[in-house]
Amino acid sequence: MSKPTVRVTFLGGLGEIGRNCAVLEQDGRYVIVDAGLMFPEPNMYGVDLILPDFRWLIERKDKIDGIVLTHGHEDHTGALRYLVKDVNVPIYGSALTLGFARHRLTEAKVAHDLTFIEVTDGERRRIGPFEVEFIPVTHSVPSAHAIAFHTKAGIIVHSGDFKLDLTPIDNRRTDVARLAALGDEGVALLLCDSTNAEEPGFTPSEKSVGGALNRLFLERPNRRMVVACFASHIHRVQQIVDVARGQGRKVALMGRSMEANVKLARKLNLLHVDMADFIDIENVSRYEPGEVCVICTGSQGEPMAALSKLSRGDARNFTVGADDTIILSSHPIPGNEWSVGRVIDDLHRAGTEVIHSGHEPVHASGHARQGELRTFHQLLRPRNFVPVHGEYRHLRHHADLAASMGLGDKHILICEDGDQIEVSLDGIRRAGQVPAGFHYIDGSAGDLDEKPLEERRMLAAYGVVQISAGVDEHSGTLAQPVKVTTRGWFDGDHDRSVVDAITQSVRDALQASLSEGVRDADELSKVAQRAAGRLLGQKFRRQPVLMVAVLVL
Ligand SMILES: [Zn+2]
Ligand SMILES: [Zn+2]
Repeated sequence: MSKPTVRVTFLGGLGEIGRNCAVLEQDGRYVIVDAGLMFPEPNMYGVDLILPDFRWLIERKDKIDGIVLTHGHEDHTGALRYLVKDVNVPIYGSALTLGFARHRLTEAKVAHDLTFIEVTDGERRRIGPFEVEFIPVTHSVPSAHAIAFHTKAGIIVHSGDFKLDLTPIDNRRTDVARLAALGDEGVALLLCDSTNAEEPGFTPSEKSVGGALNRLFLERPNRRMVVACFASHIHRVQQIVDVARGQGRKVALMGRSMEANVKLARKLNLLHVDMADFIDIENVSRYEPGEVCVICTGSQGEPMAALSKLSRGDARNFTVGADDTIILSSHPIPGNEWSVGRVIDDLHRAGTEVIHSGHEPVHASGHARQGELRTFHQLLRPRNFVPVHGEYRHLRHHADLAASMGLGDKHILICEDGDQIEVSLDGIRRAGQVPAGFHYIDGSAGDLDEKPLEERRMLAAYGVVQISAGVDEHSGTLAQPVKVTTRGWFDGDHDRSVVDAITQSVRDALQASLSEGVRDADELSKVAQRAAGRLLGQKFRRQPVLMVAVLVL
């Protein structure tokens, strides 16, 4: 009889930061871990979001028993609103994780017939073929979990996103005792967060940020303090409120998600603030600058969020200027550096002082560095290891770290999106691949394929050249002359010779074909397209988008 095996399929998050999604399978039943989104790069024109390709999952939707969420960040939960349309199975997670997810699902109007099952720290539940255990870990959002799957092939631990913060704001530490106990039982496979695997040492405690903020506030008693951070970073919000309150400042919240998350976290008793310390953002200007603190969204430079609006001066009810100090209590996610830079420039233009993590310790990462990763590996002592949650270089560094701790080469696999592996008591092996390309979402148009996106890149880079002509079917002559118009290419008036050269070469090609008796409109359009394309390629080494219409009259 063959040994029991568990198959793991990676649909996202391996090779990029974002759209995390993994699937565990035993005896033909499936459990999903996370369903996250990724934000687009600046050259992905018109793309609002990138999702995992869920087709492979949707084909198996009758065999899926649940979705387990490690924590409430968008790169782990943001794709749920697309997935649940086809895969309606119970969603498991901590109260806060589910609270954030449910809020987004409700906004997207897809929450009504979903089942949410709240789990508590340390809880163990049957989900489909597995016993699933939720182990507390520290991260940059409260109530995060690592997940232990008790399977026929042994224990599989998914770290989720974590750091080993020994002084977390809520005193809820990573349960290292439980991790060590799992290590004693024997861990067949570890899937572990690789975000900071290149960084030596230990990530500073979240508490260190509070100290830095306190000093910066104290040094500026007469300035208005505006602090931007992730709306989900409840512990950061807690510290900002505590610092402001300690210095007798009132606090105003700015940004819809900030208001919603603060409300939810208070309800769940995860944020301890007195509403008497809060004022409405509309009333901020009634106070002296030194009497208030504003906490806002938009630390990633998102164009529609509060901080960007402040930088452009188009926020309602509130503007910033020479009396303001803006603190970006954050670090740009890869891909957002440019937008964040632009917001910082605009804030300087508005005359404000700007403080960011590049020159003051106003942010601490939520992800483990090498020292913490080594500790994590040592607690669990896994027999097999696959690094997850990282760009390729992060995965590589994490694999090297595991090897440096004595794990043999054949027990470490670097996988990428779409890879499948099998775990058994014998070890791990690669077991195939499934489609896992980027699924682009354009908010206005819906799904977007690679082809229109490539066209948008060409349009953006080179512009468009439109060519039209009319042919008389009987005489085989040009009844309407070749006309060339351009957008985003050369300005025709500025350099007539470019347009003239295209016109000439298309006219010559069309006349040659017409003299050979060609009268088909499609064929003549192709002739014109080839002639123009050849000329542009040879002469200008550019490929603008060509739109050609030759009409037969
Ligand atoms: Zn993450
Ligand atoms: Zn996270």
